[in-house]
Amino acid sequence: MGKKQLKFNSRTIHGGQSPDEAYGAVMPPIYQTSTYAQSTPGGHKGYEYSRSANPTRTALENSLASIENGNYGLAFGSGLAAIDAVIKLLGPGDEVISTSDLYGGSYRIFKSIFEKYGIVFHFVGMQDIEEIAQHISPKTKLIWVETPTNPMMNIIDIKSVSQLARKYNVLLAVDNTFATPYLQLPLDLGADIVMHSATKYLGGHSDVVLGALVVRDKELADQLYFIQNASGAVCGPMDSFLVLRGIKTLHVRMQRHCENGRAVAEYLANHPKIEKVFWPGFSDHPNHEVAKSQMKDFGGMISFVPKGGKYQDAIKIVEKLQLFTLAESLGGVESLAGHPASMTHASIPKEEREKSGVVDALIRLSVGIEDKEDLMEDLRQAIE
Ligand SMILES: *Cc1c(COP(=O)(O)O)cnc(C)c1O
Repeated sequence: MGKKQLKFNSRTIHGGQSPDEAYGAVMPPIYQTSTYAQSTPGGHKGYEYSRSANPTRTALENSLASIENGNYGLAFGSGLAAIDAVIKLLGPGDEVISTSDLYGGSYRIFKSIFEKYGIVFHFVGMQDIEEIAQHISPKTKLIWVETPTNPMMNIIDIKSVSQLARKYNVLLAVDNTFATPYLQLPLDLGADIVMHSATKYLGGHSDVVLGALVVRDKELADQLYFIQNASGAVCGPMDSFLVLRGIKTLHVRMQRHCENGRAVAEYLANHPKIEKVFWPGFSDHPNHEVAKSQMKDFGGMISFVPKGGKYQDAIKIVEKLQLFTLAESLGGVESLAGHPASMTHASIPKEEREKSGVVDALIRLSVGIEDKEDLMEDLRQAIE
């Protein structure tokens, strides 16, 4: 049975993997080396220098390609390094259309780094495809989608956006960090590039920072590989190993994240001291139908606002939480709580932030895989 035909859960473990050739090690060795012996100039075994390629990184890149239903995976030193590589496909005068409700660091690299080099970014609400269409011009080269969005949990219809992108010959990249390939497969829905902060669910244990890209097209893969090697923002072998190990349990962790996410979202929605809960699994979520059609389940990321919408109340809640740790990041086995306005999204101007709903009273939860009763009890004591 070819590994391409394996179903998803099997591919998280076996996709693109084979025992190491030297001693049959089942897990790829951590090839902690910068360089490789050559018998004669150019006489090497496929590896010359670890910025260009490293066997442990290759094992991870093959796994990434497999789980995203792609052909080529590229691993970077962080999610932002992966985004950096994608934008370097463009040149001065090129335009990008991106979601207005976006990871703060993505917004920052677009605005503070790449605008300086003459690349123009439009931030639009992507729930309405017409909004995107209105911003397309002959200069548009890339549409950047994040879905579910961070932290408002809006859902963007990847298939509809991809049809628009194809019509105008524009590349479509999807940041799949929140959903992971367990929940949604952007390449199958028509995207050209999938991007990950593997720091989050793919790694899954809050012990490594790493980024990834997956594509199907050989020419695009070659261009991105050229940038990866030329710019040099690669990840090391130890970090590659850790993410590869994380991916092997992605499906069991995600299943529990979804189960606990549902329990916590429903608990909060029924709590008299909570004003609003943002989670795409609710049937009255504005994009619930799209979520149902493109995602397998709804994940463990939830945002909410306490009744009255006061900043002080939100701060009190995050300070009182005990099992949920107040911290940046998400997607690990442990539950985390964040205050987007002062933490992950502090780099977005207040006015810009509030337009997309990131108010000062918003709290974001990354629901972990602890017992859900303990998580709800922790929220109860913090809220009450
Ligand atoms: C964390 C994150 C990033 C950035 O990834 P790093 O690994 O922190 O560089 C990008 N997009 C989303 C949605 C994220 O959550």
